[in-house]
Amino acid sequence: MAADPVVPEPPPGAEVADLGVAQFPQPGTGPLLRVRGLCAEYDSGERPVIAVDRVDLDVFAGEFVGIVGESGCGKSTLLFAIAQLLSPPASITAGSVEFAGRDLVAMNDRELAPVRWRELSVVMQSAMNALNPVRDLRHQFTDVMRAHGESSAARIDQRSREVMHLVGIDAAHLRSYPHQLSGGMRQRAMIAMALLFTPDLVIMDEPTSALDVVAQRSLMLQIKELQQELGFAVLFVTHDMSLVSHFSDRLMVMYAGQAVEVGQTRAVFDHPSHPYSQGLLDAFPSIHGARTALEGIPGAPPDLGNPPPGCRFQPRCPLAYEPCATVAPDLYEVDGVQSRCLLHSERYRPDRVEGRQ
Ligand code: ADP
Ligand code: MG
Repeated sequence: MAADPVVPEPPPGAEVADLGVAQFPQPGTGPLLRVRGLCAEYDSGERPVIAVDRVDLDVFAGEFVGIVGESGCGKSTLLFAIAQLLSPPASITAGSVEFAGRDLVAMNDRELAPVRWRELSVVMQSAMNALNPVRDLRHQFTDVMRAHGESSAARIDQRSREVMHLVGIDAAHLRSYPHQLSGGMRQRAMIAMALLFTPDLVIMDEPTSALDVVAQRSLMLQIKELQQELGFAVLFVTHDMSLVSHFSDRLMVMYAGQAVEVGQTRAVFDHPSHPYSQGLLDAFPSIHGARTALEGIPGAPPDLGNPPPGCRFQPRCPLAYEPCATVAPDLYEVDGVQSRCLLHSERYRPDRVEGRQ
């Protein structure tokens, strides 16, 4: 049984219907972000750790795409690889990241500079680490705008106030230092900074994970409202599948560096086609649903320097059968979603395997 996703409380006066799933992709428009065959590794001694393994991913203009998976499955490495922010020992070893028609992987820092912040911005997991502790917000916003071509002090001041207003923080806090703000305000300040140039895509790495449940829900609502108001696309990473259930248009479930299920959020929630997606759904409690024991997923994810042969989830999978230990599954189309599970392969479906014996 899938747990009910957490239903966020709407803010006073908000139309709940506004938070519905948008209709993407729109016909006739190509994706804003088109990731193909992306591989990223950590070179750490004898064996490379392949943290991102041949990932394909599309994000359309204005779309909200969630990436979910347990800690250590490669979510942050994937986001950093997309944003060209990996540094040694990590590097991209294959694939392309087309953004608005250009391959970011092939671009150098000078070529990437006008894209960063202006067209694509990143909100990190911990604002405390990402913000400079010894500069107030006003100086940090000014640094970003100056570095990306804005020289007018008046325009910088005006825009800084605007983005603070957008995220619901009094502009007086532009004089605050990060440690003077609450965790929720710091994350909001990070989002304000990411919106300074109204980018087309905002990449967010677990921006709410350090917050308590109430602050988390309020920040999610704010992100969704900003996205709908300003029209940017969001690529949002979380380990908590229920968190994105009401906000994302599509979901990619990641396991051991690979996409294991990709599809419309509703489809993945209502009928998870991969046993790992089912396990993730069972692993998070429902706030509103009946109190049930959390089933979770027994065992631990594999060492990405030495993943098991066959299906990577097989050692933990309650539905594993004979071929799973040796045959590495592709992504198979099943009822409009893609699933990396032999149960859905024409050739290795259980009825076919049994039929051969
Ligand atoms: P997630 O964001 O899903 O928690 P990460 O992308 O941070 O996962 O990490 C994916 C995998 O990459 C980890 O399981 C770990 O094996 C490996 N990894 C991360 N950072 C390093 C590092 N600095 N050196 C070597 N391996 C690393
Ligand atoms: Mg991470």
